[in-house]
Amino acid sequence: MSKFWSPFVHDLVPYVPGEQPKMTRLVKLNTNENPYGPSPRALAAMREQVSDDLRLYPDPNCDLLKQAVADYYGVEPSHVFVGNGSDEVLAHAFQAFFQQGKPLLFPDISYSFYPVYCGLYGVEPKQIPLDENFAIDLDDYRQDNGGIIFPNPNAPTGRLLTLDAIEQLLQANTESLVLVDEAYIDFGGQSAIALVDRYPNLLVVQTLSKSRSLAGLRVGLAVGQPELIEALERIKNSFNSYPLDRVALAGAAASFADREYFEQTCNRVIASREQMTAQLTALGFEVLPSAANFVFARHPQQDAGELAARLREQGIIVRHFRQPRIEQFLRITVGTDEQNAELIEALSGI
Ligand code: PMP
Repeated sequence: MSKFWSPFVHDLVPYVPGEQPKMTRLVKLNTNENPYGPSPRALAAMREQVSDDLRLYPDPNCDLLKQAVADYYGVEPSHVFVGNGSDEVLAHAFQAFFQQGKPLLFPDISYSFYPVYCGLYGVEPKQIPLDENFAIDLDDYRQDNGGIIFPNPNAPTGRLLTLDAIEQLLQANTESLVLVDEAYIDFGGQSAIALVDRYPNLLVVQTLSKSRSLAGLRVGLAVGQPELIEALERIKNSFNSYPLDRVALAGAAASFADREYFEQTCNRVIASREQMTAQLTALGFEVLPSAANFVFARHPQQDAGELAARLREQGIIVRHFRQPRIEQFLRITVGTDEQNAELIEALSGI
């Protein structure tokens, strides 16, 4: 703290990201990265960009990437916004759409960046409890609000909402924006992008950090009707001139063009998730049904903090949240089959 800080900075409570340890021999199952690398075509496209051309500014409109996303989803490029990771896209959306003076509704167990952005952008949070099965009940969101945001599947629970339920909410909530954060949608969910044409109150945000294995590149996107995208572009253009660098633009576009690799790796993660769920259940864990690349599990007889500490002693890192209602859960990222086997073996011995 310094006397030069404004009271606003003094009161900020920033987001704390999951640990990124520097050690190499670790089974790192704590921040939901993809265990398989990015598409080889994305890697080749990025290598090609590392050249003398880096003296040139990138395309400020990100046209080639928007076209690649549009082609992938069968929408127009005018429906697509891109930014530095979905965290940045979410930040712009908080500024562009969530009304002051009315509460922003989101689940009380959810992505912990939402309350942080509420603090940063002067949006009043109203957190809605999950039901007794740790699921989001969208009926609870039918109340006066200045916006609604939730991840689908939810994080850190992994539980998925159906498109039907989302559509009913969109029909009941026409006066404020509904933002569906689809960071984990590619591991078994159905994207709400299918609804964008029919609902001007819907914005879908996605990331290339999980299913496309490009967390280090920092690319996220939003899909919505052009009026929404225009608002995001205005905020972005008031913030920076070049949202993505040349390497990121090329790598992200090539990733969307490589459908086969994407589907193969997502299917491997899904199969491993199901196997991990069965193995944890056999060890006595209660595992929530997950549609993400992680599972959320608790053991009725073992303390989660203790388990996380014991795993760490063996070089296996999982995520433990010291948060009411979920302090007995562990969030475990699905790794390679070898990593998952190491996890199960370690848990069997504890
Ligand atoms: N939304 C959710 C629900 C997440 O879990 C994450 C990853 N921590 C993000 C958004 C942000 O992802 P990124 O900034 O890497 O695109």
